[in-house]
Amino acid sequence: MAGQQSPVKRLRKTVNGHLCNISPIKDKQKPYFEAFLHHEGECCKVVAFKEEDYMNFQNAEKTQSPVTLQNVIVQPSKSNGRTNVYYTHTSKMSCVRDISHAFKNTLPDEPQDIKLSELPKLDINHLRININVKIILEEYKGHNVVWDGRYLPKTVYTVADTTGYVSLTVWGEESVTVGEWYKITNVSVKQFKEKKSLSTTKQTQILSIPSQGTTVDVEVPIKSVKCYIIGVNINSLFICHRKHQLKNIILSRPSVYCYSCKTHYKITAAIMKISGHLELKPETGDIIIKANAEDEVIRSALAMNANASQNDIIQGLLSLPLMQMTICNNVIVKMEESKCPLTESDQVMASLAVTDPADVYSPPDLRLFFSSQRQKRNLSIDSKPKRSKDHQSLVAIRAVHRIL
Ligand SMILES: [Zn+2]
Repeated sequence: MAGQQSPVKRLRKTVNGHLCNISPIKDKQKPYFEAFLHHEGECCKVVAFKEEDYMNFQNAEKTQSPVTLQNVIVQPSKSNGRTNVYYTHTSKMSCVRDISHAFKNTLPDEPQDIKLSELPKLDINHLRININVKIILEEYKGHNVVWDGRYLPKTVYTVADTTGYVSLTVWGEESVTVGEWYKITNVSVKQFKEKKSLSTTKQTQILSIPSQGTTVDVEVPIKSVKCYIIGVNINSLFICHRKHQLKNIILSRPSVYCYSCKTHYKITAAIMKISGHLELKPETGDIIIKANAEDEVIRSALAMNANASQNDIIQGLLSLPLMQMTICNNVIVKMEESKCPLTESDQVMASLAVTDPADVYSPPDLRLFFSSQRQKRNLSIDSKPKRSKDHQSLVAIRAVHRIL
């Protein structure tokens, strides 16, 4: 490692090799993580203080990519005579795929052109492929944090060729048109529970091409179902106004530091983005549906202000009435109040709901939890009409646990 130069203390150097054994991030106050860097039989310890590069380190380990660490401090360790590499805030990391020696056999070659029917038998190690496909359908739009910490818009499409079809996530503001054919290069292949999907990468190019023929018939993966939300598992993350993820945010502190902007922001300038796994009980039938929902869809159903806390959102979701959900490949793409005429029990609930007009949320819909036990339901509503809203929520949450 850096063998060409004499080991002068504190000299900034460039080293390269393969990363392994990357530790979790340690010390919340002054975050750092550790890793080992191997190069031609030599191994040294890396101590990295640039937390925002954590994902890049992990990615390089996962894909066994050779890396170059620039502007690092190389020092012999006092304890064991080994070399330590300090990766500081001014250091830089890049993946260099072409200097591989030991890992040559496992590195992916140039992206292959493939037909979608070949996807199921594709070895997942072939990470990058090129496809010629027609955009069949926009499944949904959303956002997610990508490997370098940016919170990027994404659109998921169903795409097809003459042999098969698959979901493709397009990151960023790419404009593609449903019904048109494109050559899409450098797409990565993902696998989740036997199901493969595709995702564009930083190197992806999308080129318009003429029609390649008649595509296979696509089973449209969209369904619309009326259901109650009986369980929620909400994740939240915070971003700065330039859409970088803010890590280690502590809401009781006055400020938060964005490593990408190199700026301290007022804590009130941090924007909370939520996503969630919802457990849905259809109006008819007992099979619980699990589906995910993103920030925009959740907020559109709740009509809450931007400062609503995570707990407000959880309680808000659990308090929603029967909802009409449009679900595409386990993602809720639309969620709106079901417009069915009020039933007798709805009216009972509605009259309960207006007892306190200052309430932000209507009380949880108890009917759901006792749907097969009409007597019990009436008992629970009628015998204690004055119970507090919190108590009702508690009852609802306990009932959810029972059902699950
Ligand atoms: Zn930022």
